[in-house]
Amino acid sequence: MSLEEIKARIAKAEAEAGRPEGSVKLIAVSKVQPNERVEEVLKAGHRIFGENRVQEAAGKWPMFRERYDGIKLHIIGPLQTNKARQAMDLAQAIHSVDRPKLAETLARLAQERGACPDLFIQVNTGEEPQKAGIAPADVDGFVATCRTLDLPIKGLMCIPPVEEEPSMHFALLAKMAARNGLAGLSMGMSGDFEKAISFGATHVRVGSAIFGARDYA
Ligand SMILES: *Cc1c(COP(=O)(O)O)cnc(C)c1O
Repeated sequence: MSLEEIKARIAKAEAEAGRPEGSVKLIAVSKVQPNERVEEVLKAGHRIFGENRVQEAAGKWPMFRERYDGIKLHIIGPLQTNKARQAMDLAQAIHSVDRPKLAETLARLAQERGACPDLFIQVNTGEEPQKAGIAPADVDGFVATCRTLDLPIKGLMCIPPVEEEPSMHFALLAKMAARNGLAGLSMGMSGDFEKAISFGATHVRVGSAIFGARDYA
């Protein structure tokens, strides 16, 4: 699968959902991928990338930024409060705001810096004990808390349980975003981004379908 094919599939899914072309942002998830593969995607003109670990992101993106203009980096993985400052230095968006303590830390740093990346609240739509995210019942309250803290919350994010059909989770996330007046929906990965688009995804996070399988060895 190539970048061009994924972009064509996104355009087709947008059209089928009756949504304007370009309404879905493709985040190319480059975690664990060798730099040569990432560079191919940069050379093809793509500029929006996702990383799930701050440490790893810090090890490659300052170097790529010296060579390519206009890179937008999205942090999509769990964020420790002691890495928040570094994440804010590196990224234009953080998709994993998942607890009050992190929200408070981001707010304090945002005040100090006078700027903050776009933020998404991660929702644990499947209520999986091992997974990060705000429980569905607590989302409205947490959105309100973040607004009180003046955080730029752009939308909601979810990672549906692997063994479940994702539609219900996408629909739930869309409903929670709508009732909180949030336009952004970060949902859909390599296996289900077209379905996510049909449920209103504004940001899809696609890794292996663009870069190939990740080699953790
Ligand atoms: C790795 C990752 C992705 C991309 O997964 P693929 O199945 O490779 O597309 C998307 N979202 C998050 C949060 C991830 O950690």
